[in-house]
Amino acid sequence: QWIYLDGQHVTKENAKVSVFDHGFLYGDGIFEGIRIYNGNIFKCKEHLDRLYDSAKSIMLDIPLTYDEMLEAMAETIRLNEMRNGYIRLIVSRGVGNLGLDPRRCPKASVIIIVEQLAIYPEQAYLNGLRAVSVSQRRNLPDALNPKIKSLNYLNNILVKIQSNLAEADEAIMMNAQGYVTEGSGDNIFIVKRGVVYTPPCYLGALEGITRLAIIELCEKLGLPLKEEPFTMHDVYIADEVFFTGTAAEVIAAREIDGRIIGEGHAGPITLQLLEEFRNAVDKDGYK
Ligand code: PLP
Repeated sequence: QWIYLDGQHVTKENAKVSVFDHGFLYGDGIFEGIRIYNGNIFKCKEHLDRLYDSAKSIMLDIPLTYDEMLEAMAETIRLNEMRNGYIRLIVSRGVGNLGLDPRRCPKASVIIIVEQLAIYPEQAYLNGLRAVSVSQRRNLPDALNPKIKSLNYLNNILVKIQSNLAEADEAIMMNAQGYVTEGSGDNIFIVKRGVVYTPPCYLGALEGITRLAIIELCEKLGLPLKEEPFTMHDVYIADEVFFTGTAAEVIAAREIDGRIIGEGHAGPITLQLLEEFRNAVDKDGYK
């Protein structure tokens, strides 16, 4: 496995960063998770746009131009002979001193890891997941703005711990007002009487790229879709609930907080969207 580390490709064993890197010391940095299907980088522009937007928002200078970043990704994929897999792109503030001040970090560090993906077993896509709602609230303003895909995932990790303790597969987060926002690392959709709903991102969700692909797919398939706030009550009484994300793609929930969702397995619209999504990414790489 070859890992891109600041302009060089190194082996996994040699892929090491400094203990003075502010990404390590303070979670000061950003990242992206991207899929490669059939040798094509899925929604590459959307992911790179989100990366550069996150960087601008936190005043992080990515030392590569957009085209150089593309080239570095392509080269890392080629070296690893990867046709189907996952790319993790990380840009940290780089090496500084123990102080917070980013001016002490002269150069941001860029890391690209490509890997096979260990996701849910295929059966889980038919059975659906067990999910629980959690008490952590999705933080809205400033640095924990969900629009910034920063290295500060402590809130999401606490969410994951809470769902682990409940022996659930996934968690559902709400914002401070009690409106559903998203999963621990996925966006959420519900289906009721043939209408697909997803919360608007301003409530406190990452603008997921898979989420957008599913919204586009609903339009293409003529499935009515509404971006509307909803609460856990609406989730409990939904006919179908599913999560979307780069790693998980489209995966149903069969049980949430002890309530059985629909028939207790992945519903027809979820499965149709999953199938159409997979067909689209398979056929033309869905650039
Ligand atoms: N929400 C959070 C908090 C995430 O970390 C992710 C994963 O990147 C998502 C949603 C899903 O976004 P995407 O479809 O772009 O992977």
